[in-house]
Amino acid sequence: MMWSCPYCGGSAGQPFEDRSLRGTLCLNPECGRFDDVAENIQDDWDTTDL
Ligand SMILES: [Zn+2]
Repeated sequence: MMWSCPYCGGSAGQPFEDRSLRGTLCLNPECGRFDDVAENIQDDWDTTDL
């Protein structure tokens, strides 16, 4: 699945995630915004222990 920046429309992005943040950092030097993923993905993390 191709990521595209919701701010500039570019397709060059660096995936990033840590314990509290997950998304894609736009590599366009004129943009550089961070696009965090939908909150519902965090539900998967909470249920992995089951
Ligand atoms: Zn961008």
